[in-house]
This record gives sequence, structure tokens and C-alpha cells, in this order.
Amino acid sequence: MSQKVLVTGGAGYIGSHACKALRDAGFTPVTYDNLCTGWQDAVKFGPFEQGDLMDRARLDEVFATHKPIAVMHFAALSQVGEAMREPGKYWRGNVSASLSLIEATLAAGVRSFVFSSTCATYGDHDGVVLDENTAQLPLNAYGASKRAIEDMLKDFGASDGLKSVIFRYFNVAGADPDGEVGEFHQPETHLIPLILDAIDGKRDALTIHGTDYPTQDGTCIRDYVHVMDLVDAHVLGLKHLLDGKVAAGAHDVFCLGTGNGFSVREVIDHSRHVTNRPVPLNEGPRRGGDAVKLVSGSEKAVAVLGWNPERSTLPQMISDAWRWHQNGGYER
Ligand code: UDP
Repeated sequence: MSQKVLVTGGAGYIGSHACKALRDAGFTPVTYDNLCTGWQDAVKFGPFEQGDLMDRARLDEVFATHKPIAVMHFAALSQVGEAMREPGKYWRGNVSASLSLIEATLAAGVRSFVFSSTCATYGDHDGVVLDENTAQLPLNAYGASKRAIEDMLKDFGASDGLKSVIFRYFNVAGADPDGEVGEFHQPETHLIPLILDAIDGKRDALTIHGTDYPTQDGTCIRDYVHVMDLVDAHVLGLKHLLDGKVAAGAHDVFCLGTGNGFSVREVIDHSRHVTNRPVPLNEGPRRGGDAVKLVSGSEKAVAVLGWNPERSTLPQMISDAWRWHQNGGYER
């Protein structure tokens, strides 16, 4: 019987792709999700347990039923704009919920934990390429909540021997090329799916959030990673933990970026080329909480985990997203 991994947020965008990668690597992913933003239809690669992270009794029951060997924790609120308006939602929904999960994990005797963190923990660093040692100075409650969870994992490592792999994601894009799962947020706030919505008339136009940033074309720069490459890193990170490469109580942090930054206007240009359609545009003011440039090298993940982000080119990410956008989607 294959080993089980508890995947929180397995009904969401990245979590559902991770479940597929885990299944393909010979594990059984057990999705734990409250469906607040996820989709039951996205749970295709293993059992589904509906539940909330704040519901400790339910978590204990799921750990007892499935006896997972490790946890992959994706479930989170992740919108910068919303975090600026409603920080309490982020401190409760991300930090308190993760505390509940970590305590349930330890109570079940599980010591291997893979955590989805973010480049939003860094804030602005004058355009330098970021790495695992860059100071974390978040500009918004989303980044601050994720940094707090990283700190929590370190504390529970020291107290209880929890071993964790922490991934700091840059901008995740694209979709499963087989079309089984893809990106589907309601409401959508991310750049590439919004561009595709504007291209096929699902919205009137894409609004560029800020054209007066100190960059070559005035728009923000981000480092885009294909979701399939991102979840490959998670399987490698899980094996890194299970193979004993992380000592009891220790944690290992990896940035998942490509080292290539693209401005909002460059992403729009690539989308126009890939789809061969015009992109209706508006120019709007800056969005609060946005860093000017978030770009990271992948040296550590490549050297230590053997990660190979080969699908993370803009044409590949946009064409996979476009195929999903035209044929995919979920219903409540
Ligand atoms: N962006 C934009 N218009 C939109 C959505 C996003 O100009 O309708 C910009 C946003 O300001 C940022 C970049 O696109 O500079 C990527 O934003 P997204 O929300 O996709 O990811 P984030 O970087 O916030 O994680």
C-alpha cells in the first residue's frame, strides 16, 4: 500500500497539481480542504476529507483514519489586496489555522512537514535578486502571516523535533498540460488568468496596476514558475525529508524562482503572441502592498534537490494556461 501524505488545500490550484505529482510519484495524497476557495472537482488523485484547519477534532480524526507519513500544507488565503483590507482574516486564516494544523500533526506523531511560503515575505529590496538568506521584511499581512508560520515551524522544530521544508514561491502560473486540473479562482486576481479573461471577452479589459514603478517600462517585475515545476519541487522536498536529509528539529528553506524577471507589460506581450489575439488594456493606479520587483535564483533548489524548472518559460506557461482556460474550469 502506498504511503499517504496529508495535503491541506488539495482542492486548490497548487494543491491539486501537487496531488497529481504525488500520485505519479507513488504516494497517496489525502486532501484536507474546507472548500472556501477550492473545488471538490479538483480532487482527483486520492481521498477527500472536507474540514477546516481550525477544527482540531476533525483534523485528529483524519490523521487517525489515514495515518499520513507527512503533511504538505498549501491551504491559505493568498491575495495581497484582500490582506491589505482585512489583515485579521489573514492572521486568523493563515497563522491560527496553521498553528492548529501543526499541533495536530505533532499530536499524531508526524514529524515531516512541507510548507508553502512566499516571496511576499521579503518585501522590497531595491531590485536585487533574492535568495534564501535575504532579510524578510513583508509589505503586507499576507507576507507577514506566512513569515510568522515559518517562525512557528522553526519553534516547533526546537521543541518537538518537527522537520520542515519551506518553499518560498515566486509567481506560479500555467496548468497541468493534460488538462485534468488548472487554475480557477473566484474572484480571480492573478495576472495571467486575468489577461486570458480579457483576451476572450470574459472581462472588458485588463487593468495594469501601476505604470510609474522604477522599472524599464514602469510596471512591476515578477519571476514566473510553471505550476508543474513547482509541484515537482514539492515531491523532491518530501523525499529530502523522508530520506533523512533534514535533521530532527531542523528546517530547510528553498526559493522556487527561475532568476528571470518579467514586467507586467512583457507578460501581456507574450500573451498576445501565444494566443494571437489582442489584449484590451486599461492603465490604473498602483495596487497597495505590491513590491516593485520579486525575482529569485533557483541555485539552492537545483543543487540540493536536483530541481529542474524546465517548463517555466512564459510561452509554455501561457499556452498551458490558455488551453485550460478554454476547456477547463470547475463548478460548485
Ligand atoms: N497585476 C496587474 N493587473 C491585474 C492583476 C495583477 O497589473 O489585474 C500585476 C500586479 O500588480 C503585480 C503582477 O501583476 O505586479 C502580478 O500580480 P499577481 O496578483 O498575479 O501576483 P502577486 O505578485 O501579487 O503574487
